[in-house]
Amino acid sequence: MKTSHIMAAALVCAALHSTVAGAAEPAPTADIAKRGLKAADFPRWKELEPNIYAYEDLLTSAGVSFTTNSLIVVTTDGAVLVDGQDDPERGKLLVESLKKITPQPLKYVVVASDHVDHVGANGVLKQAYPGAVFISSPASLKTMTDLKRDVLPTETVADKRTLKVGSTELQILNIGRGHTGGDLVVYLPATKVLFMSELYLHHVFPAMITAYPSEWVATLKKAQAMDVSWYVAGHGFIDDKATMKADLNESLKATELVVSEAKRLKAAGQTCESEKNCPAFAQAKLGPYADMTLAASQAPRALARVYMELDGKLSK
Ligand SMILES: [Zn+2]
Repeated sequence: MKTSHIMAAALVCAALHSTVAGAAEPAPTADIAKRGLKAADFPRWKELEPNIYAYEDLLTSAGVSFTTNSLIVVTTDGAVLVDGQDDPERGKLLVESLKKITPQPLKYVVVASDHVDHVGANGVLKQAYPGAVFISSPASLKTMTDLKRDVLPTETVADKRTLKVGSTELQILNIGRGHTGGDLVVYLPATKVLFMSELYLHHVFPAMITAYPSEWVATLKKAQAMDVSWYVAGHGFIDDKATMKADLNESLKATELVVSEAKRLKAAGQTCESEKNCPAFAQAKLGPYADMTLAASQAPRALARVYMELDGKLSK
């Protein structure tokens, strides 16, 4: 009797556990296929806090489709977009979506990452919202000028700027270099939402082609020390706030591991001249992060970049 009671309780417990786990723990991946989603499910958006939306559209790299994320903040006096999307086609979808979300015009576009998958649609945004002011860091303005991007920011933020739009305060912050070298984040003090752009790649292997690897580690620690409810990533799914916070630490650990593995391999005499010529990669012990989305394509690239840093080849 006692045994069967315990067994029954155990069964109920197991059933409950699997239901809860199934509902609460989305697959740890950025790959839309592994979440059972298809391209037609995007773009999509969700309201994180009243009038603050995370917008997801797709990017495909090395055969894997994952999300590129923008932040949309609707105020009583216009809307603010932080990071755009990849190309004019996705720009049109973004404008259509913005019009569904709010009749208000876009007042500001903050370029938090200057990479093309976040600025390639800006021409379409500018056409739809000619009054929008584009803002970036000075470093991103230089990068975008050098690359002759179609819309160049007209205002820059070196360290901090507080924007008061309607009754909403947004802080545009430079909390350190990481993914692009011109990285900015946007913090909303009233709701404690922090849009991290590409400083936070959710379940995506640390992509370092233009990164400052050791500084990236320090920057992620700074973000962790901030008073934040929602950590919003630049790529990868926007899951619930507890998951986003816990996984930021995983992202930090993955970045730290890339740096420490590159140091170990270099000290052991392994070479990594470039992503294509990186014998060290075969010896790298990436542990649980070896299976992160894009690990196969990004890991040798990341190791090569840390080697450059160790050799003093990155700009100060
Ligand atoms: Zn990107």
